[in-house]
Amino acid sequence: MPEFIQASPTLAATGLCHPPSCLGTMSLLKQQPALMTKTSIFLLLWHIYVGCVNINMDRVQQLIMIVLEFKAYGKLDQFTAIDEALRTVQFIRNKCLRLWIDGLGMSQYDLNKYCAVLAHEFPFADKLNSMARQAAAERAWSAIASFYDNCKKKVAGLKGFPKFQKDNRSVEYKTSGWRLADDRKSITFTDKKGIGRLKMKGTRDLNFYQPDQIKRVRLVKRASGYYVQFCIQVDRSELIEPTHRTIGLDVGLESFDTDSLGTKVENPRFYRTGEKKIGRSQRLVFRKVKGSSNRRKARIKLARVYLKISRQRKDRAIKLARCVITSNDVVVYEDLRIKNMVKNHCLAKSINDAGWYQFRVWLEYFGKVFKRVTIAVNPAYTSQECSGCGVIVKKSLSTRTHVCQCGCVLDRDHNAGINILNSGLGTVGHTGTFALDVNNAWGDKPSTLIGENLSGQGMSRSQESSDYTNRSRSVFSERDATRTERETACGESV
Ligand SMILES: [Zn+2]
Repeated sequence: MPEFIQASPTLAATGLCHPPSCLGTMSLLKQQPALMTKTSIFLLLWHIYVGCVNINMDRVQQLIMIVLEFKAYGKLDQFTAIDEALRTVQFIRNKCLRLWIDGLGMSQYDLNKYCAVLAHEFPFADKLNSMARQAAAERAWSAIASFYDNCKKKVAGLKGFPKFQKDNRSVEYKTSGWRLADDRKSITFTDKKGIGRLKMKGTRDLNFYQPDQIKRVRLVKRASGYYVQFCIQVDRSELIEPTHRTIGLDVGLESFDTDSLGTKVENPRFYRTGEKKIGRSQRLVFRKVKGSSNRRKARIKLARVYLKISRQRKDRAIKLARCVITSNDVVVYEDLRIKNMVKNHCLAKSINDAGWYQFRVWLEYFGKVFKRVTIAVNPAYTSQECSGCGVIVKKSLSTRTHVCQCGCVLDRDHNAGINILNSGLGTVGHTGTFALDVNNAWGDKPSTLIGENLSGQGMSRSQESSDYTNRSRSVFSERDATRTERETACGESV
């Protein structure tokens, strides 16, 4: 019974239905058929009904999209066909954008309808699978929607007016246009683009998943070749023992992060170390004649260097985030706006290099998987405030030690870590408490919507980890995953 409570807190919290008792009732009925009265049948059905509803609610909360990636192997003409499909996607996206700019397509529905018109007009667009065409139009719409969104929020500066794309590197299929082989080691694209059957190699096994769990399939072109990605909806959650530890993280440039206990994690600076290599490859590119095939080859080499660095960074972010989440129950970090910080030109390279954003996305992802609390707090004054007495002690970026009148002498980042932790613990919590919920005081309605309560109480300073199902979907339909860091932000791709 204790394990059961741990496994599904919402279910246990409702107190309405206990599946073990349901099972008990059932076995009892089997033994003594005479007990099968109308009342008991009704009670049984009621238990099952309530139980199912609750179980489903629990499940919905844990559904997560993961992205599995495989390298594709095929013949040269197959890759040419993929390139052709990539160009078609770009064409449709840009055409849709043009329609919107000209004021002829004002909604997503208009753009989707326009796909059929394009297919009718251009034979090469007709060859692409219809759902892939729709996905291309959706990309145009997501660019437009984020522009509208920025305007509505009155974001300072540029609002990100959608641009025409010229370097598309991915094509997205939904549930049709492809067929997995029985051994799931190869995939056949069945639309008229002529991509055909591609062999796939990767470290993950697709046999663990049902075909209907695969929501989208995508072909991605990278400097190192072509890849097939599967976006799979899974019920991903893991049970671990509580660690009885809380932690506040202060990210910095000197060390990647410093926690509230004063432990520092060194900054790997992949970019800085890879800089030499990049410089060399870059010079090789510039030495070659423009437009020559030697230059093209050199450019591919350069792209591979960048690719390696981005993979190293991602790998580290995942491992570190997983480690932090599994060794703490509550993780608090700053809600940093990297975009604004990068504007400081001197720090831009180091900030981008550190990959904080990626780290944070993975923190929140693992927080969801391992059911740990992640809190993002307002970064204001975290490094200036004294963790001992609360007085603001002004210091510049170069002052590395915090010295306060109250006698508190700490490392600058250590002090910030403590402040962040305190701030996080002060803003979140009190879910389902009697004082805040009148219904609960009478014991009528148990609070099942834990997430809702939290975000309601946390106000602007707290942020519950967002809904990954939605987020990964939006990430997946993003313009070009190959270059953005968020690429497989919510999926554990290989
Ligand atoms: Zn002080």
